[in-house]
Amino acid sequence: MNQVHYQLDLLMAINQKLSTREKMYTMICEASSCAYLYYSFEKNQIVTVGRWKELFDFDIRNMHDVNRVIDEMEEDYAGPLRDVLFLEKTGNGISAMECKHKDGKRWYSFRTTVDYDGFGTPRDKLIVVENTTMLKRQNDELSYMARYDSMTGLYSRNHFVSLLGGYISRAEAEQVPVSVMIIDIDDFKKINEGIGKEAGDELIQAYAEFLKGFSGQDTMVAHLHDDVYCVALYNPSGKHSPEGVHQAIQERAREPFVFGEHSAKITVSIGVAEYPEAAKSALELMNSAEIVMFRCKTKGKNRIEYFNTPVLHDFLQDVELDNKVKEATFNHNFTLHFQPQFYAENRKMRGLEALIRWKDKDGHMISPGVFIPIAERNGCIVPIGNWVAEESVRIYSEWRQKYKKPFIVTINISSMQCSQDDFVDIMLGIIDKYHVEPGEVEIEVTESILIDDYEKVVDKLVTLREHGIRVSLDDFGTGYSSLSYLKKLPIDTLKIDKSFVDTILTDDTTKIITQSILNMVKSLGIQSIAEGVEEEDQFDYLKSIGCDMIQGYLLGRPQPPESIEAILEKSL
Ligand code: C2E
Ligand code: CA
Ligand code: CA
Repeated sequence: MNQVHYQLDLLMAINQKLSTREKMYTMICEASSCAYLYYSFEKNQIVTVGRWKELFDFDIRNMHDVNRVIDEMEEDYAGPLRDVLFLEKTGNGISAMECKHKDGKRWYSFRTTVDYDGFGTPRDKLIVVENTTMLKRQNDELSYMARYDSMTGLYSRNHFVSLLGGYISRAEAEQVPVSVMIIDIDDFKKINEGIGKEAGDELIQAYAEFLKGFSGQDTMVAHLHDDVYCVALYNPSGKHSPEGVHQAIQERAREPFVFGEHSAKITVSIGVAEYPEAAKSALELMNSAEIVMFRCKTKGKNRIEYFNTPVLHDFLQDVELDNKVKEATFNHNFTLHFQPQFYAENRKMRGLEALIRWKDKDGHMISPGVFIPIAERNGCIVPIGNWVAEESVRIYSEWRQKYKKPFIVTINISSMQCSQDDFVDIMLGIIDKYHVEPGEVEIEVTESILIDDYEKVVDKLVTLREHGIRVSLDDFGTGYSSLSYLKKLPIDTLKIDKSFVDTILTDDTTKIITQSILNMVKSLGIQSIAEGVEEEDQFDYLKSIGCDMIQGYLLGRPQPPESIEAILEKSL
């Protein structure tokens, strides 16, 4: 009897333990976001827990119900899903698949696990179903974001590079070319600064919308960054070629682009590189196209350039020169030459223009016409220009003390130098340091300094003049010069460019223009100086039409300080 009691107690305890466990598992399942289907091979019995009802609106009791689940999914998935869900199938271990619901809005994942006894006979099977719609949507969004640029909807840089890699592999197999065009909006920075970043973004989008029109079979368009786009053309020909795209771009450029409240005619600079000539990989191809795009910018924008061997050669030379300029700036490897300026009336010396000279390590003289533009691009012009300003004033102050004879020293100032916040302070500091009269120092600027921020620059020139420093306008007649412009500029001297002097005796139009410039200048109380005067006849003619001063090889070449001292000694 005791034995029986004991066994009964044991059974009750086991049962209680079982039901506690069962309760716990059920609770866990109910709390999870999945639906669970348990199938016992032995009893051919199905139990569903968790979120079945929620996911399928019907319970599952037999294979017929399971088939309903399969029917609810999109046809493409029916076959593989049947394999996963087929209850009596004993596929080893875990198998899983993801399915799209017929309504297209829902996604499910199905995962089955089969359990075996010690002899390898299946005992039971668990199918876990999860609604993965949210996850899927997030993944899709993430992968969309990785593939497309959020601002323009064009391909993103990374995705484009990988697709271009695909083009190149295909082109290699089919032995055809691939063209890559880097397209950069001209003067975008100015537009952006002028009308604000928001409108700038709208322009980027508007231009992207236009370029999107080129995309299609064998043509891809990407937005690389800022105002830079890239078009790749597989096996280009006819309209589907860099020339075709360029022509369409040129045609579109005739009409203004509308962006937000603004509208403007937009031109672009285009660099083209072709596989296999220019490069053999996607990134190299894009870099090569970019190099020629930059060349377009220096050649005056609104144009297309193609990558080829001479371009590569020039580029490498530019890079080499760029490094050399940096090195020379760091080591102050420059000297100054001075070119005298004379009064036309009596040929007496009026002053000296300081002109920079650079002898590189191999002893080659490199012309400022070559390295100044490079220094302007890489920023070296600021330290170089400051060095020139100080060195020319220092040398002048020595001559001034030694020869006790005042004249004017003229210093060329680049627009980037002038746009520095401390430009005025630096100039005043130099004058102070070397105790020279401000009226004996003249800065020479070109109209290009006025393009950036007209009012700010004019303010600086006004301040310098208030301190007595003279301002001369260089290269007049080569830029945006207009006579009415002259009235607004705070200048003391105007330099008539050499190009006028060159043709002044032979070209009637030049004669008329020069004459009217001189009349205008005189009426404004501005002094005039002609540069590049090489012949006596030019001198005589310029003098006869009222040009105040003359500079040029005729009366004196740029020369080192020692030779200038000889002149100063003689003229005393
Ligand atoms: P620029 O300021 O117009 O200087 C006049 C240039 O014409 C000088 O060339 C000078 O040597 C040259 N020249 C003068 N008279 C004659 C002539 O009768 N015939 C001919 N054929 N040429 C003549 P350079 O010294 O090679 O300078 C070229 C340019 O480099 C300068 O043009 C100026 O824009 C720039 N530059 C020179 N030194 C400096 C500097 O210290 N700072 C800055 N920012 N630019 C400089
Ligand atoms: Ca000059
Ligand atoms: Ca000049």
